[in-house]
Parts: sequence; structure tokens; C-alpha cells
Amino acid sequence: RPSVVVVGAGMAGVQTAVALREQGFTGPVTLLGAEPHQPYDRPPLSKAVLLGKAETAAFDVDFEGLGIELRLGVEVTGLRAAARQVDTEAGPVPYDVLVLATGAQPLTLPGAEGVPGVHLLRTLDDAERLRPVLAAASEIVVVGAGWIGAEFATAAREAGCAVTVVEAADRVLAGALPAEVAAPMAAWYAEAGARLETGVTVESVEPGRVRLADGRVLDAGAVVVGIGARPATGWLAGSGVELGPQGAVVADEHLRTSLPEVHAVGDCASFPSARYGARLLVHHWDNALQGPRTVAANILADLGGGPQQVYDPVPYFWSEQFGRFVQYAGHHAGADTLLRRGDPAGAAWSVCWLREGVLVAVLAVGRPRDLAQGRKLIEAAAAVDPVRAADPSVPLKSA
Ligand code: FAD
Repeated sequence: RPSVVVVGAGMAGVQTAVALREQGFTGPVTLLGAEPHQPYDRPPLSKAVLLGKAETAAFDVDFEGLGIELRLGVEVTGLRAAARQVDTEAGPVPYDVLVLATGAQPLTLPGAEGVPGVHLLRTLDDAERLRPVLAAASEIVVVGAGWIGAEFATAAREAGCAVTVVEAADRVLAGALPAEVAAPMAAWYAEAGARLETGVTVESVEPGRVRLADGRVLDAGAVVVGIGARPATGWLAGSGVELGPQGAVVADEHLRTSLPEVHAVGDCASFPSARYGARLLVHHWDNALQGPRTVAANILADLGGGPQQVYDPVPYFWSEQFGRFVQYAGHHAGADTLLRRGDPAGAAWSVCWLREGVLVAVLAVGRPRDLAQGRKLIEAAAAVDPVRAADPSVPLKSA
């Protein structure tokens, strides 16, 4: 019975360990996590945990009962593949099969590191540091109008803080959505009483203030930086595990790395999607839930000689911002045809993307049925009638 070591005790690592047991793996499973806390879920950090409505988001998993050896506060610093060992401060840990699930780490603002009052939002410790900032109803500058910036701004407004969001791009969610889709979302900030400054970069951050490149100076009791995240893979440099753009582990369609006994899953790894004809690097929760099942199945297939499972999901994520439930399924490219369902100035609307008449992605704002039905159509690579799909009174499944 070979031993499996999983590096990273976030969603993807925990789900891998659990899926191994669920699928009948009886060998030793060790889960190594750098953070000292009982493994927890991240989405509540920018929502209930931040507002003090929930203390913790710990996973409800009985590690001991499942025979999973959980070692917390253990950072893995290197991989020596020839020896089949990973290095930690507490000494080397041998493995037969290794799973990389180290997630991502947030990008920092150059020059802002170590400046008092500057925060990131990735970990439970980050959220706990931000709670009193919100409770004090401080004046807050948020750098970045992406998913994290929008969710944090929502919570900060709910807590009564004065909020200014500074975004370098000319619109919100510039990394995820085209201008015509994102443009109406800017109004959500104003509606919630948050100031939004787009098309301007931060020149420097000093204690108590943020200097913008256009010369303006913003008072800031606290600064929250949400400008993206990169795979936490620095420790793999020179290990023989191939790393690609953004430092992502390059996994194949079975979520296996360039080393056959090493698998990779979650925010740290990219994988090729035949469905979309592209390599995807997905930084969303559902990918950290689904991918581990494929990894576990393929570890078991290696032992039993069964066929390898291919991972080619329809990516899905959600965001809760400014009182709205925003959901997205699929993957779109610039050349896809965009169809609107409903008025983007209204409370509920959707957008569909079609490629050669086939639905490839859907964005739903307050229309969870569109999302659920659209997701099934995307999975089935179903053709839809563009006229019916653009009519919000026609159920998407009948389009
Ligand atoms: P992570 O959750 O980052 O876990 C990786 C773990 O590995 C971490 O605990 C880290 O400390 C540990 N680690 C890293 N390096 C090492 C090392 N060298 N040795 C040992 N351990 C290591 N997605 C959605 O779809 N919807 C949402 O609403 C949503 N909200 C979010 C809100 C916040 C505030 C954040 C930060 C993320 C949110 N996400 C959301 C994204 C989602 O949480 C991530 O996609 C998911 O957590 C990825 O899981 P993961 O296990 O791959 O990585």
C-alpha cells in the first residue's frame, strides 16, 4: 500500500484526502498544511466571517475517523523527486504518491508591504485582522475592483465604513468580463455608497494615506489590496515539476504533473480543457471540489490498473456583492457571440455566450435558474436559438 502525501490543507487538499477514503484507498494519507488553523473554507472570509456573523468556516471533516494524518503549521519548502521526499522545517516527509494542493497567494502592492494598515484578504488570519477595522467603521481604500475587492467593499459598506475603490483598469472585473458586461456593474458601487475610481493607479501607500498616480491623495485608515493571486509554487522551482505562466503547475488532462507520481489540483495548477480548446487556470471553489475526485480516482486507477479519468469540467463560480448573487458557468473568449437576457440596469439579468450557435458560458445576476439550466446546456454542448435565448421570459432550457 503506497503512501499518499498531500501538500496544502485548503479545499483542494482536504477534498483530495477525503475523496481517497471515499473511493476506497486504504493506505496512509498525510495532509500537510502551512497554516496553524483547523482547515477551513475561504469564501466566507469575505462575507460572514469578515462581518463577525460567523467565527470560523472550518470544514466539517473527521480527519482522525477517516485515518487522515493532519499535520498543521508545517510549511513544505522543497521537493526532492529522486528521493521521493518533501522537505519541511520539521524534517523530510517521504511519499510514494504526492499531491500538490498549495493554492494561491495574493499579489502585493509594490512598496506597500510592511506599511502599517495595509491588508490582504486570503487567510483566516487576514480576515481576523480586518474585523476590528470594519467594526471601527474606518475610512478604507480598496485597491482592485475584482471579485475580492467587490466583496470586501460590500462588507465594509455594510459595516458603515467610508469606502473608496481604486482600479487601474477602465472598469470593474476587467480580468473576467468584457467592458459591455462589466460596465453596468459600476453602478452597484455608487448605489451601495462606495466611491469607485477607475483608470487610475496607486503611486504609493503611506501610513494613513494613498497617493494616486494622478496626484490625488486619499485618506485611508486602512488599505485593502485585492489585485489578484498567483499559484503558491515558488517552493517547486528546480524540482522537476513543470511550472507554466503565472507559476502554475502544468498538469495534464488527468491532473498529473510532469512527474508521473505527482498530481496537482485546485488554484495551484492549470490543466488543458478539450471542451474549450484552452489551458485553464481556475481560481474558484468548485474547481477545488471537483478536481480532487479526479485525482483520487487516478491514484486508485494507477494501483488497480483501471482507466484514467479525464478532468474537463464546466467551470463554475459565484460571488455575493452589493446585495446581488452573481454566478458564472463555462468559459468564454473574445470572439464568442454575446447575448443579453434582460436589462442590465435592472435587478436580475443574464448574459449568454455562444460559439457557433452552442452555449459556452453564462453569467447570471439574480437569476439562479438561468445559471442552473445554462450549466446543463453547456455541459451537453447544446445549440440554442439566439432569439429565444435573448428573451428573459423564455426559460433558458427551452431556448
Ligand atoms: P487554498 O484555499 O489557497 O489552500 C491552499 C492551502 O495550502 C493554504 O492553506 C496554504 O496555506 C497551504 N500552503 C501553501 N503553500 C504551502 C506549502 N509550501 N506547504 C504547506 N502548505 C502550503 N470562489 C468562489 O467560487 N466563490 C466565492 O465566493 C469565493 N470567495 C472567496 C473569498 C476569498 C476571501 C478568497 C480568498 C477566495 C474565494 N474564492 C471563492 C476562491 C476559493 O476559495 C479558492 O478557489 C479555493 O480556496 C482554492 O482552494 P485550494 O485548496 O486550491 O487553495
